[in-house]
Amino acid sequence: MAVTGPRRVTVMGATGSVGRQTLDVIAQSGGRFVVEALVGGRDVDKLARAARASGARLAVVADPQGYAALGAALAGTGIEVAAGPEAVLDAAGRPAEIVVAAIVGAAGLASTLAAIRRGATVALANKETLVCAGSLVTAACAAHGGRLIPVDSEHSAIFQVFDRSQSDQVEKLILTASGGPFRTRSLADMARATPAEAVAHPNWSMGAKISVDSATMMNKGLEMIEAFHLFPVREDQIEVVVHPQSIVHSMVAYADGSVLAQLGTPDMRTPIAVALSWPQRMPLEGPRLDLRSNLSLTFEPADLERFPSLKLARDVLRAGGALPTVLNAANEVAVAAFLASRIGFLDIARVVEQTLARSTARAPSSIAEVEAIDAEARRGAEASLPTSGRAA
Ligand code: NAD
Ligand code: MG
Repeated sequence: MAVTGPRRVTVMGATGSVGRQTLDVIAQSGGRFVVEALVGGRDVDKLARAARASGARLAVVADPQGYAALGAALAGTGIEVAAGPEAVLDAAGRPAEIVVAAIVGAAGLASTLAAIRRGATVALANKETLVCAGSLVTAACAAHGGRLIPVDSEHSAIFQVFDRSQSDQVEKLILTASGGPFRTRSLADMARATPAEAVAHPNWSMGAKISVDSATMMNKGLEMIEAFHLFPVREDQIEVVVHPQSIVHSMVAYADGSVLAQLGTPDMRTPIAVALSWPQRMPLEGPRLDLRSNLSLTFEPADLERFPSLKLARDVLRAGGALPTVLNAANEVAVAAFLASRIGFLDIARVVEQTLARSTARAPSSIAEVEAIDAEARRGAEASLPTSGRAA
C-alpha cells in the first residue's frame, strides 16, 4: 500500500465527551492524524486548551460572545480564531479528510451536511442528525461522495461485522442496550428520579443529554432509527436486547443462523479509533477484555412499559414521515427541561408522546423543511411541559 501522509481531522464538539476522547485517540496515533479545526459550543477555556494541546490550525466557538476570550486565550499561538454559527459551518467546510461529528442534538445537522457536501468522510457520533434528517443526509452522501462511518458503539460494532456484499443474507441487526441506571427500578421510583441519578450511567461516562436518553432508553430508540439509515435493512429487521454489561456492542444475525458480534470493554475510544482509521486499524492503549475474569454476559428483553420512549421510537420509525424529526426535537426539549428540574423523569416520554400526537407535519423534502418541523415541534413540546415542577 502506498505510504501517505497524516490524515487531517476536524472535530465538531471538541470540548464534549466524544470530542475529548477523539483528541486522546489522535494524540495516541503516532502522527497518523493531525488536527485541522476544533469547534466547541461555549466553553472557551476547554477549547483553547484543546487547540493548544492538539496543534489545531483553527479554533471556533459557536457562541459569538466567546470570540474575544478565545482570541485572548490563544494570542501568540498562531492558531486562527473564529466564533458564531457561520464560522462553525466554515470550519466543517475546511479541507480535512475526516470530520468528527460530535456536537450534541439537531444543532449538529448543518455542519455535518456541510462536511458531507464537500465529500468528506464523517465519523458520526451525532445520531440526532440521522434521526431528524436521515433520508436527506444519506441522499447528500450519495450525491456528493461523502461517507458516514459510525462512532456510536453499537453501530460501529454492526459496521465491523456487516457484510455489505451480501446484505440480502442479513436476517436482523441486534442492538444491545445497557438498560441504563434505572434498568431495575420501579415506575414509582423512576417518577422521583433526579437529574443527578439519571446521568449516573453504570458503564459509560457521557454528556448529560445522552446520559438521560440512556436512562429513558430513548437513546436506544434513536439508535434504531440511526441504524435504519446507516445499514440496508428494513425497520422490522432491527431488534433491541438489554445487555447490562455493555461488552457485546451489537450483533448481526445472518440467514444461515450465524450471529456475528463485536466485543470490547466499554470505551468510546475504540469505536472512535475504528472510524478514524478505517479501513485500517490502529493500536490503542487501554483496558483489554479479560474473558477469564469470571465475566458473565447476560441478555434480557427490554421492558416497554417502564421504558415507553423505546416504544415511541419504534412507532415513529415504522410511521416515518415527519415524525422522527418531531420525536427528536420534542425529546431534546423534554430532556433539557428535566435537567433543569422543570419536569419529572417520567414526564419526558409524556411530553414526546403528546408532541407526536399533535403533529400534522408532512415528510420533509429539504433541510429547510426539517428545520421548520424541528422548530414547530420544539414550540409544541414547550407548550406541553407540565408546569407543576418535579412531581411527575
Ligand atoms: P457533550 O455534551 O459531552 O458534548 C457536546 C459537544 O457539542 C460540546 O463540545 C459542546 O460544546 C458542543 N455543542 C453543543 N451545542 C453546540 C452548538 N449549538 N454548536 C456547536 N457546538 C455545540 O456530548 P457527548 O456525550 O460528547 O455527545 C455528543 C454526540 O455523540 C451526541 O449526539 C451523542 O448522542 C453522541 N454519542 C455520545 C457518546 C458518548 O459516549 N458520550 C456515545 C455515542 C454517541
Ligand atoms: Mg450508543
